[in-house]
Amino acid sequence: MLEDIVAPLLAWYEENKRALPWREDRNPYHIWLSEIMLQQTRVEAVKGYYERFLDRLPEVRDLAAVPEDALMKLWQGLGYYNRARNLKRAAVMIMDDYGGVFPEEYEEILRLPGIGAYTAGAVASMAFGKAVPAVDGNVYRVYTRLVRESGDITQGKVQKGIREEISKIMPLDAPGEFNQAWMDLGAGVCIPVGEPLCEKCPLAEQCQARMAGDASLYPNKPKKKPRKREEKTVFILEYQGKYVLQKRPGQGLLAGLWEFPSQEGHLSPEEAGTFLREWGAWGDEVELLGPGKHIFTHIEWHMLGYLVHLKEMPQRGVENLVLASREEIRRDFSIPSAYGVYLERLMS
Ligand code: SF4
Repeated sequence: MLEDIVAPLLAWYEENKRALPWREDRNPYHIWLSEIMLQQTRVEAVKGYYERFLDRLPEVRDLAAVPEDALMKLWQGLGYYNRARNLKRAAVMIMDDYGGVFPEEYEEILRLPGIGAYTAGAVASMAFGKAVPAVDGNVYRVYTRLVRESGDITQGKVQKGIREEISKIMPLDAPGEFNQAWMDLGAGVCIPVGEPLCEKCPLAEQCQARMAGDASLYPNKPKKKPRKREEKTVFILEYQGKYVLQKRPGQGLLAGLWEFPSQEGHLSPEEAGTFLREWGAWGDEVELLGPGKHIFTHIEWHMLGYLVHLKEMPQRGVENLVLASREEIRRDFSIPSAYGVYLERLMS
């Protein structure tokens, strides 16, 4: 019976819960922010960003009013920048539609931009004590092993079924703790990589996969498609002690962020020189900076970098350019970490 897990899971959580900065209070803004940051980033990496973000934007009203470039700068290094844009859009909606007071009901929270079923459940249960589940990858793993659920967990129907089953056993007096207990158990005991640590698990007696010895079969999810490989040449263009940056288009990958001008393909030094001339720019010899690689969810960038000291700025063929000093780049511009290898070189 699934309800038999409630007491041992809560008792285990009480003893073993992780001390995390966003668990120090029940402020919905803090919980929401941490959950959005944690969507694609490890807990240890999030801690520093979380504190820096709240130092700069301590209230929802501060987030609603922050200029886009300053927001991007705060988010620099976390990746998946649409998360930050949606945070701001949601903050504006909280100010406009709710008078600056975070909505309490699951359905209202779910309507905010960038918030899905998991995050709405996490905020509603942890901040407001609402008895709704928050089912993330950790919870899917623990649940599917516990009951040997073999449905494909990327399917909405299967996800909904799991949420409904967990809803039925939510303890009304501790829904936030219950949700966090699943998450912590999945993160530390019923782990995603390698054998689960069943000997430390409070649910070992109820776990069907442990008894069957087939925990590695769960959760069932289809294999990912291989990532698309893209080659590009990145230009670090110096002009009178400043560097050329270009704003990416407002839509698509890394939308609206600043980057170094680039071209598709790996260009030879001669081809790179030809490109510069086509842009109406010219400079000293191009200096090879070497390769760089960055892996996104569905794409891999394989880059080749060149440093060029320009005598003439590009005149045509490249748009949305600015010149920025090293200090300005460090302070005011959010350059995606995909360019980390070249940015480090520039700043060293
Ligand atoms: Fe996971 Fe093992 Fe616990 Fe089952 S007993 S939930 S497989 S850690």
